[in-house]
Amino acid sequence: MSLTQTKPDVTRYDAGFAGHRGLTLVRGEGAFVFDDTGRRYLDATAMYGVASIGHAHPALAVAVAAQAGRLVACFASYGNDQRAALQERLATLLEPLDRFFLCNSGTEAVEAAIKMARATTGRAGVVALSGAFHGRSLGALSATFRGKHRDAFAPLVPGFTHVRPGDREALNAALTEDVGLFLVEVVQGEGGVKPIAAAYLREAQRLCQERGILFGVDEVQTGIGRTGRWFAYQHAGLAPDLVCLAKGLGGGFPIGAVAFHGARVSLGDGTHGSTFGGNPLACAAALAVLSVIDGQRLVERAAAHGERLVVQLEELLAGNDKVRAIRGLGLMVGLELTVASMPLQRALQERGFLTLGAGPRVLRLLPPLTTSWAELECLAVAIAEELGS
Ligand code: PLP
Repeated sequence: MSLTQTKPDVTRYDAGFAGHRGLTLVRGEGAFVFDDTGRRYLDATAMYGVASIGHAHPALAVAVAAQAGRLVACFASYGNDQRAALQERLATLLEPLDRFFLCNSGTEAVEAAIKMARATTGRAGVVALSGAFHGRSLGALSATFRGKHRDAFAPLVPGFTHVRPGDREALNAALTEDVGLFLVEVVQGEGGVKPIAAAYLREAQRLCQERGILFGVDEVQTGIGRTGRWFAYQHAGLAPDLVCLAKGLGGGFPIGAVAFHGARVSLGDGTHGSTFGGNPLACAAALAVLSVIDGQRLVERAAAHGERLVVQLEELLAGNDKVRAIRGLGLMVGLELTVASMPLQRALQERGFLTLGAGPRVLRLLPPLTTSWAELECLAVAIAEELGS
């Protein structure tokens, strides 16, 4: 028997769809994750925007452990105290939206929103924007824009069109009587951390109201404080009919949701569901996350830190010809480069910073909302140094 413990081969049986980063992460603490050699990394990805309150937050760990010892499974035909409490909390955050379908991921939330729009309006058409990312199941993928995500899976669901953000004529022409849903990210995440102009969004909402089209906002990435408001649509003064949530809501525990107007949007009894959707464990996790965000005023902190981070990056990178633009809303920040972003992401990983791309030339930062200013400043300095500033 060997006394040396062999490490598992982490890629041997993996599907391999994700493009492996060459690290095996085994533990987290606050804004940091640790690999299997004990090396520490500042996680400016929040693991794709989910670790909103940081890693291994004690409040989340305690809530999940306590609920695991009480009741884990309870499907939606039975009421549950945790689910009801979460729905009540969401109702205060998303007022006047007053009904919540709970599921397990962002894609499922978008898929449900597409079905709700069909059932409510009797129209199958969906209009989304060029650059949009709404998920990877066949319905959600049909609303997603990039060929890289779509092309291998044709034919997709018919009736979906994409219009260029800001092109009002194209929007006006696309929102026909066959369309039941306009779906939009207020800041496009995968599309390059691109905020969509508030005036254009308000115009889209007005046209939707006039034409009986549901105005749906995909807040899967932008929601739950990420952009410095609870929801990004609040920056633009919108009043959506549907809001899709996931990622940061569970702080890493899988949960998704669609918030909607009970009086205006319907699907019908028994027509949609999810075995795990709204399970007590996920709801307890989400309640803990929302309570930490409230208690630590993390939404306000995301707004302040995000603004400061953009200013700091602008200062450090002034005149750098590898940087075309720096964009951000709260702690959702993108650096548009004149070069590919992957080599920069690799170099930053070598230095102990995990970052994301958003398309080939954008470096995307989605740190936990709990990340301290000192940690963000280190990140900004490392980025500037790696870009030669
Ligand atoms: N919508 C948006 C805006 C997203 O950013 C994502 C994921 O990145 C999704 C939907 C899909 O969410 P999930 O990966 O949880 O299915």
